[in-house]
Amino acid sequence: MKPFAADFPILSRPVHGRRLVYLDNAATTHKPDAVIEAERAFYRESNANIHRGVHWLSQHATDLHEAAREKVRGLLNAARADEIVFTRGTTEAINLVAQSWGRANLKPGDEILVTGMEHHSNIVPWQLLCAQTGAVLRHVPITDSGELEPGAYESLLGPRTRLVAVVHVSNALGTVNPVEEMTRKAHEAGALVLVDGAQAVAHQRVDVRAIGCDFYAFSGHKLYGPTGIGALYGRRELLAAMPPWQGGGDMIRTVAFEGSTWAEPPARFEAGTPNIAGAVALGAAIDYVQGVGLERIAAHEHALLAVATEAVQRLPGVRLYGTAPDKAGILSFTVQGIHPHDLGTILDAEGVAIRAGHHCAMPVMTRFGIPGTARASFALYNDERDVDALVAAIGKAQRLFNGERVQ
Ligand code: PMP
Repeated sequence: MKPFAADFPILSRPVHGRRLVYLDNAATTHKPDAVIEAERAFYRESNANIHRGVHWLSQHATDLHEAAREKVRGLLNAARADEIVFTRGTTEAINLVAQSWGRANLKPGDEILVTGMEHHSNIVPWQLLCAQTGAVLRHVPITDSGELEPGAYESLLGPRTRLVAVVHVSNALGTVNPVEEMTRKAHEAGALVLVDGAQAVAHQRVDVRAIGCDFYAFSGHKLYGPTGIGALYGRRELLAAMPPWQGGGDMIRTVAFEGSTWAEPPARFEAGTPNIAGAVALGAAIDYVQGVGLERIAAHEHALLAVATEAVQRLPGVRLYGTAPDKAGILSFTVQGIHPHDLGTILDAEGVAIRAGHHCAMPVMTRFGIPGTARASFALYNDERDVDALVAAIGKAQRLFNGERVQ
């Protein structure tokens, strides 16, 4: 694969006087020139509020915003662009489903089923909803390898299950969940399915129609796009039957003091002026990854993961968390005798940016009886030099902690 790092200006800035080795892509990815330029060009040439102006510029901005929606539709292979609701990101998309669909449909005793490897944003919105409705949150336990406990999902799915909310790719372990099969089983049990795709969309091809899920959420900033923009895919019949969750301009058909009526989706769920420039730049990010090719990105990241896994495992005292055969480019590990935060700090001094902590997945840490892990996560611009730098920096940290003098 041609080195793509040259497309990402931030990667050429040194950190602590060293080459930046950015391995915190699961937290957020960097932005290629094409994305930065799209956002800048929007403000320089196309800025206006959308959906309300009669003037040319407003119509132009509206067209760009809707063209971005169409790009998201294509990315997810949704049937129709009006099945795509722009949100601030994955978190807001999940809260939207909880507060709109959930509040309208759940009764005391209904169950929401998640997994033991969810990000907090696919746990807490359901806990809030349970407190509001009397529904009950259950979870599928995970194994030592970081996969769903065999048979547990099937036995927890039952007539009371109304929604399965599952992460496509775990940000803490890298596990890829069998969302297609899980969706089929949930539908057989009469439950809907929401997939948290935050860690999936930038790393593999996603097809919501092949998965068959009812909702799919992702964030633009993990897909080389800007922060503050993401999307929720929702099946059309479901969105059409859901009430608004936030009120304001743009989401109404009529407003009177006696009562108001709602616009059709997706506008019904997009109250207020949205992140127009962000949506346009997200469209540019989608063009960028599709230009590279998602299959190619997946193959590149898998190859890096394999090299990194082998190299890190060769170091003494390293334990990996998440060893499922079906894994995305996320390497979560601990090093004996070194707290993940200390490791992260020493690596940072070497210019190696990783994440250390619970990765907003505290139940995963509790499951493994640890406070946190160190996490290296790959993107299309990483290469084997980055893996070498990671391994060398971990070795240096180990020598430091062993009291050796390290140059
Ligand atoms: N789910 C997963 C699996 C994630 O990794 C993240 C981000 N770390 C989120 C949800 C939340 O995404 P955001 O903060 O962009 O809303």
